Amino acid sequence: MHELAIAQSIVEAVETKASECKATHVKVVRLKIGEASGVVTDSLTFCFEMLASLDPILAGTQLSIDTLPHRAFCRSCNREFSVMNFIAQCPTCKEWSNEIVTGTELQILEMEFET
Ligand SMILES: [Zn+2]
Repeated sequence: MHELAIAQSIVEAVETKASECKATHVKVVRLKIGEASGVVTDSLTFCFEMLASLDPILAGTQLSIDTLPHRAFCRSCNREFSVMNFIAQCPTCKEWSNEIVTGTELQILEMEFET
């Protein structure tokens, strides 16, 4: 499962950071996930909670996810538009765009620790 591997990487990154900061507990982990990243957020949350429960520092950590819409930029019209079903075609001039503005992100934005 894709989300399990991602959750595993996130947990590892948080554990590393928590030990660097000598944290006793992680309160919140905030993620930024693009709609086009292919990640199912419910499933990611489920996997994260399962893995987090195995580590006392992470048990009960709240996972907060900011989702970003899939958007591209059209050079001809000089404007952004929403990408529907992964088709990055400008609704105005019908040009195809390869400039994705948002939607493919998958990153940890911030973490809150208790020390
Ligand atoms: Zn256009």
